[in-house]
Amino acid sequence: MGRGKKNGPKSARAAVFLILGVFLAAACVLFLKSEGGNEINPEVLKESPKERLPEDTGAVIREQNTETDLGADPAVEAAAMEQEFQRILNLSAGEFVCAGMAREGLLGRLFYAAGINEAVLARISGKSYTQNETVLPSDLSYLRMLYYGPDGNTYLGEMIVNQAIEADILDIFQKLYENRYPIERMVLVDEYDADDEASMQANNTSAFNYRTIAGSSRLSNHSYGLAVDLNPKYNPYVKEASDGSLICQPQGSEAYADRAAEFAYKIDEQDLAYRLFTEAGFTWGGDFNSVKDYQHFEMPY
Ligand SMILES: [Zn+2]
Repeated sequence: MGRGKKNGPKSARAAVFLILGVFLAAACVLFLKSEGGNEINPEVLKESPKERLPEDTGAVIREQNTETDLGADPAVEAAAMEQEFQRILNLSAGEFVCAGMAREGLLGRLFYAAGINEAVLARISGKSYTQNETVLPSDLSYLRMLYYGPDGNTYLGEMIVNQAIEADILDIFQKLYENRYPIERMVLVDEYDADDEASMQANNTSAFNYRTIAGSSRLSNHSYGLAVDLNPKYNPYVKEASDGSLICQPQGSEAYADRAAEFAYKIDEQDLAYRLFTEAGFTWGGDFNSVKDYQHFEMPY
């Protein structure tokens, strides 16, 4: 029986519907005015998931390396490249740069030479550099280069060479990198207190070191920054002693004196580094007659 009480007269119900109708129509007009009839901007939807990616995950690095953003806004792309360049500039030698290869568009700027500034001079003084009349800091160049690590990732390298070979070295090491030629380490020998044996044992690729040739008073080509030792642990210096036994440097590299054996980092005449250095006019220590210095490439002084 309560039903009857809820049903009011027909005219009253019509009035309610009329008011509701007018209210809804007004609401629609207001809504369209405020939105201008526009749909949601699709750019906003497209950009937002990117912004949510945490900056220091491998996902971001991989995305940067695949160059999939080429179709994106060129200004945004250029800004991202610049930001990546600045980030790498601020890294120290030996540090991880990125997973896989660096952006191709940055390579020309990431293999570069600078003079020996005060900070570098302070690092090398009393270690790889001692004051002398023959080799001046102004004869030398400090290089920053990328290298392709044995784990397939990119690292930041450094090297000091003579200015005369600076352009050759930058070109050779950029080509080695682009061809994913593995290099284990590339820091100044000063990181090992200029101890060549320690640097070689660490398989550290390096160049300048003001020192005499072992067992003589003659300056080594490393003293002028005109020689590079590449992946030295696996490409030892080998000398035959008077009793016929082999002297190998660094210690523990005897297994790699056998150049017929197969092993990683081996430099031989089929090797890309051999081809690049010799084409640029360098002599390979593996071609020396009296001793074999498989890690060594030098430009005649
Ligand atoms: Zn050498």
